[in-house]
Amino acid sequence: MNDPVIPGDRPGWLAGTDRLVADLAEVEPTAEVQMIDATILGPKTIFTANTDAGRLLVWATLAELAHTCGRCGTVEPERITWCVKCGGNQR
Ligand SMILES: [Zn+2]
Repeated sequence: MNDPVIPGDRPGWLAGTDRLVADLAEVEPTAEVQMIDATILGPKTIFTANTDAGRLLVWATLAELAHTCGRCGTVEPERITWCVKCGGNQR
């Protein structure tokens, strides 16, 4: 599958989506994740998967991205948009 489209201001999500692409290739090669978007309620995805294993991988990645700084990729225990360091540079 192709790399999912992610928002341009979320480069910190790349490591997570790269891992998803690699893992999906093993459990369900025909699965597709078209895009992952950032919403006010957290990361949202549009995907096609026909196995429970494939779907679980996508949901697990989404849950992890909800805790991943969109700028630097730092993973925090709580749900975040930006980590403390990157959030300090936000307007
Ligand atoms: Zn950060």
